[in-house]
Parts: sequence; C-alpha cells; structure tokens
Amino acid sequence: MMAKKKLAIMLLASLVLILFIANVVTRAPIMEVEKDTYSFASAPAQETKKPELRLSMMVTATVMAPEAVMFEGGSWFKSRKMGHSAILLCHPDALLMFDTGLGRDIDQQFKAMPFYLKPLFSYEILKPATEQLDIESFCPGRKLQIALSHLHWDHASGIEDFKGAPVWTPAEELSSGRNSGNKAGYLGNQFDSSDIQWKPLDFKKQNYENYKNSLDFFGDGSVIFVPMGGHTKGSAGMFVNFADGRRFFFTGDTSWSLEGFARPAHKHALMRKIVDGNVSETEQELRRVHALMQLYPDLHVIPAHDYNAYVPAAIYPDYLVNN
Ligand SMILES: [Zn+2]
Repeated sequence: MMAKKKLAIMLLASLVLILFIANVVTRAPIMEVEKDTYSFASAPAQETKKPELRLSMMVTATVMAPEAVMFEGGSWFKSRKMGHSAILLCHPDALLMFDTGLGRDIDQQFKAMPFYLKPLFSYEILKPATEQLDIESFCPGRKLQIALSHLHWDHASGIEDFKGAPVWTPAEELSSGRNSGNKAGYLGNQFDSSDIQWKPLDFKKQNYENYKNSLDFFGDGSVIFVPMGGHTKGSAGMFVNFADGRRFFFTGDTSWSLEGFARPAHKHALMRKIVDGNVSETEQELRRVHALMQLYPDLHVIPAHDYNAYVPAAIYPDYLVNN
C-alpha cells in the first residue's frame, strides 16, 4: 500500500515537473492585437422587441487546477475552480441548454479515456443536469433543445440523459467527434445512441460583430451562434442579448479563462497541444474576442470552465431575468 502511495506521489511530482518545463520551454506569448485585423460589422440588427429570457449557469461538476494550466503567465501557486457546466436559457419558444456538462453516466464513459489523459482530465462533486433541472419551475411548458459549443467529453456527457431533445451542432463537429475515437478530448460512447435527434447548426453568411458568419437561432436577435475555429473544427460560441441591453458571450473552450481573452494568452503549452486542434486558429479566436472585449467593456464573456466568470450570469437555481 505504501509503495503504491509512493509511486502515485512520484508520478504526480513528475507530471508537475513536466508541465512546468513544458511551460518554460514552449511559451507562445500572443502579441498585441492589430486593430484592423478584425473589422466589425455595422451594429447588429436591432429587433423591435426582444423576448423575456431567463438565464442560468448550471454547474454539474468542478475541479481545482493551478492557474498556470488555464492560461500562460498564470501562477502555479494559485488554485482556481473550473466548472463543467450547462448554460440554461428559457426563451418563449424553447428551453435551450448550451452544453450539457457531465452526465449521470460519466464514470462509465470516462473509462474509455486513454490512460495518459486521465490524470489531466478529472472531476469532483458531480451533480448531473438531469438530477438538478426542474423544467416546470425554471421554464414551464417549454420543450428542451440542446446546442453544443463542441463535442468534447466534458460538454457532451449529458446528451443521452435527455432523450428526445434535439441536439444542435455544426455537421463538421459531429463528424470530428465520430471520427476521432477516444482521442483529442472526444469520447465516442457519449453520443453513439441512434436515438439522438441531431440537428445541423448551419451558420449563414451574415456578419455579426467581428464574425463573418452567424446564426440567429430564434430569429429575434436574442440568441446568436457564431463559429469559433481552432479548439475543434466545429466549435460554436453563443451570444445572448437581453431586451434590457445586458449581453453575454459564451465562448466554449477557446480559452479556459477570462484572462486568456483579456491578455490574450493561450492555455498551458501541454494543454493546448492536447486539446486545441489548431493552435494558430485558436489564437485568432482569442484575439477576436479580445477585440470585442475592448469594444464592449460591458459584454460578459464567459469561458466554459472559468467558474469566476460565471457570476454575472447567475448560478442555478438562481437565474437572471429580463422583462
Ligand atoms: Zn471543455
């Protein structure tokens, strides 16, 4: 037993050392953004009246991580809470869930994760969305629809817990997920049921802010999806626009921290090697969101895993409402 404990401590110490060396050797600082790189569209289409919305972050699990893992330049001595979460939006036409967090079968699903990735990806205090969500009190009478920032294990785990709900994701993300086996952050066993009603999230050639393509999901300007390249082939971000002017931008895993956009800065070198499919495209997205934050200081940018950044959106069962 003691020998096992010693081995575990040695493995952990080696891992920390490898992460530290990788961080020093392969840092890729992002230079100051050139303003003209990302032209902005004319102001987003003004709708006559945006509907009443309720918005809440549902935390399905958490994990503590050194800040240095979340973004380059972060401290190794500062521990930060990361969330595995679903974003809930009650709209007159549907209850929209953006990402599912960790589902009730995550322990079983996680067994398929390659052994060398298991120590890097972990989770604690599991409370799956299906056990927390009370549709009748949060969004009475509405049908659930699921949309995904991408299909990685910590976003897609709960899909099969919500049978019958349509699942929206770009076609290229679905094919990436299906063709990647259990590599690069995907777990195929999370979305292999033939019962899933896949719906293609098709972006239109319609400028929105500094994105060339976008999709106005409900057609009333309240929920706008945009493609976010880099992290995965078909990653998507979601803008939520309240009638009272408050605005939110849920950015999936393009960055794991708000600092990643504010500075801007990449994830830790080893992490971006493992999880970011295309590092230079990821950098473009970091810079694009950085430019948006400079233009709109009141825009609440919420990276999927940065628990500190959830606060402005309210954490379930609390929620924000506009009317
Ligand atoms: Zn993630």
